[in-house]
Amino acid sequence: VQLRDHLAVEQLEAWYGDSHVLHGVQFKVRPGEVLTLLGRNGAGKTTILKSVMGIIGKRTGSIQFEGQDISRASSDRIARLGIAFCPEERGIFSSLDVRENLMLPPQVRDGGLSLDKIFDLFPNLKERLTSQGTKLSGGEQQMLAIARILRTGAKFLMLDEPTEGLAPVIILQIGELIKRLKLSGYTILLVEQNFRFASTLADRFCVVEHGRIIDQFEASELPANMEKLHQYLGV
Ligand code: ATP
Repeated sequence: VQLRDHLAVEQLEAWYGDSHVLHGVQFKVRPGEVLTLLGRNGAGKTTILKSVMGIIGKRTGSIQFEGQDISRASSDRIARLGIAFCPEERGIFSSLDVRENLMLPPQVRDGGLSLDKIFDLFPNLKERLTSQGTKLSGGEQQMLAIARILRTGAKFLMLDEPTEGLAPVIILQIGELIKRLKLSGYTILLVEQNFRFASTLADRFCVVEHGRIIDQFEASELPANMEKLHQYLGV
């Protein structure tokens, strides 16, 4: 059976200690699409990803993944069910080399990519196999971080600002990679400040403001919404 929604979030609330950050977030991600969360700094985009992954102190509401409620599940269980999160800070271990970083995630599901498949997708990582994390450029670290989550076999990928701090030529490569992943059947939930980059990739957009989704539209509706979007994002 084809699922209508890969992920469905309803009435999501989240807190850091006493600080109430998400207020009734609601959105859906369809199988195989690229959905981008847009919004200003501090709007709550990262917190939405962390809530889905189960790595925030407190969350309430409903989060359905492939039809199962994961709103109370641990992050381990969520990972085993097939969601992967690539954080903004990338999480590359500087004292480990590329191969060791790639070997870190246990292959949690069938369909996790072998190292050979990883090197097909990321030929430059193969050349850097024995380089330590610290010796990698920002772009190589980002590629490694994405490659590493593909090892887990997750088909639902959450990428937090993958273009942050990278040169334009590397940003293009990351865009091509995300297109390839989409063509291979992955579903991608992307957080991006780089609107130009996101607009070349995303099937749909959700706008996050003050911990709520205040608007959403399809890529085809983008031209008609540019003015509104400029106001939301302050660009
Ligand atoms: P950015 O692009 O700046 O990361 P964002 O939209 O991803 O923005 P979040 O990181 O989700 O925003 O932050 C939402 C709110 O939660 C902000 O007000 C932020 O200051 C606060 N916040 C984020 N992380 C923590 C934390 N660990 N402890 C307390 N407050 C936090």
